[in-house]
Amino acid sequence: MARLVMKFGGTSVADIDRIRNVACHVKREVEAGHDVAVVVSAMAGKTNELVAWCGAAAPLHDAREYDAVVASGEQVTSGLLAMTLETIGVNARSWQGWQLPIYTSNAHGSARILDINGDELIKRFAERGQVAVISGFQGVHKETGRITTLGRGGSDTSAVAIAAAIRADRCDIYTDVDGIYTTDPRVVPRAHRLDKIAFEEMLEMASLGAKVMQVRSIELGMVHNVRIFVRSSFDRPEDIDPHGTPPGTLICDEAEIMEQQVVSGIAFSKDEAQISIRRVQDKPGVAAAIFGPLAEANINVDMIVQNVSADGATTDLTFTVPAVDYARATDVLTKSREAIGYERIDGATDIAKISVIGIGMRSHAGVAAKAFRALADRQINIRAITTSEIKFSLLIDAAYTELAVRTLHSLYGLDK
Ligand code: ASP
Ligand code: MG
Repeated sequence: MARLVMKFGGTSVADIDRIRNVACHVKREVEAGHDVAVVVSAMAGKTNELVAWCGAAAPLHDAREYDAVVASGEQVTSGLLAMTLETIGVNARSWQGWQLPIYTSNAHGSARILDINGDELIKRFAERGQVAVISGFQGVHKETGRITTLGRGGSDTSAVAIAAAIRADRCDIYTDVDGIYTTDPRVVPRAHRLDKIAFEEMLEMASLGAKVMQVRSIELGMVHNVRIFVRSSFDRPEDIDPHGTPPGTLICDEAEIMEQQVVSGIAFSKDEAQISIRRVQDKPGVAAAIFGPLAEANINVDMIVQNVSADGATTDLTFTVPAVDYARATDVLTKSREAIGYERIDGATDIAKISVIGIGMRSHAGVAAKAFRALADRQINIRAITTSEIKFSLLIDAAYTELAVRTLHSLYGLDK
């Protein structure tokens, strides 16, 4: 017997038929003897619709009212799933964020979970064998008592936080993919599903655009050591053996991974732009003068590379921004030219960032060097390189993305 959190995203609860299917998944686990808390998203497309309504009603709306509106999508699905479970003989009760309660900060629209009281749920598991069906994405601010939401994709974070609060053995994320792959299978057909991936690796994969889960949910899983299992919600409930190991990927502590590969996966993003500031003054405060205004303009800067000055007076500084922010970023820099002091700005859009990720890199030398050779053999030019303990990232021309990802995927033995 185990204690499980089962999280279902929007496509899994998109209509009443699918909610019935979810109920069968839940019933299967209950019948296997497990204590179950279910976390649900809003029906597919519902949150977008609610967000659009807010925009239409009042373009500059109060974030507290935005939360009051968008949190409603999950309220609907938790109630529907609880009543569906009852019809198939499973004792269940719905819970809104304010009822548990799930306390959050008061950053409406992107609140952080501060504390969850899991005692009542645990009591009901023991006394009544009752399944808890909890609305994801929402919580409540303790002092004001107002409903909050956790930011788009936040029901993943709800699920992991609830798993920590009730000390669950596992948090199952049912989604429209059957796990985490070594890279995007649409680009590399020989990509394979990982059985296990360490939290740290998954954080890199997630923040680099492997959009399976909200990044914050992985951070939370890492802090509280919640084992997260990503699996498909399209598997038919009746085909699953509750005592077997279903297909999926376990995101867990690295200590649980016996056979660690040097490289676990390759992430990439195509929509990057590169900005190089030439002959910028090499003196204290210059980086602050550059990145301060960009941050104020809400432009996300990544991969900063600064050269060591040759003449002791000026240097070159290169970084990336999302391609959509390229024009805005160069505009901000042009406006602060005097404060920064530089000769010119060079830039390029159509840039891709490729990242090779693996905790095995900590103990292996020369992992990146192999990539440089392989890309050179394919005549792919590397524009910039950054490295950290468990990954290295390369900037290349976007036209070579597929070729580069495929090359590296086989180079590191990831082809199935
Ligand atoms: N329904 C919310 C959204 O669409 C939360 C979630 O699905 O995770 O962002
Ligand atoms: Mg999601």
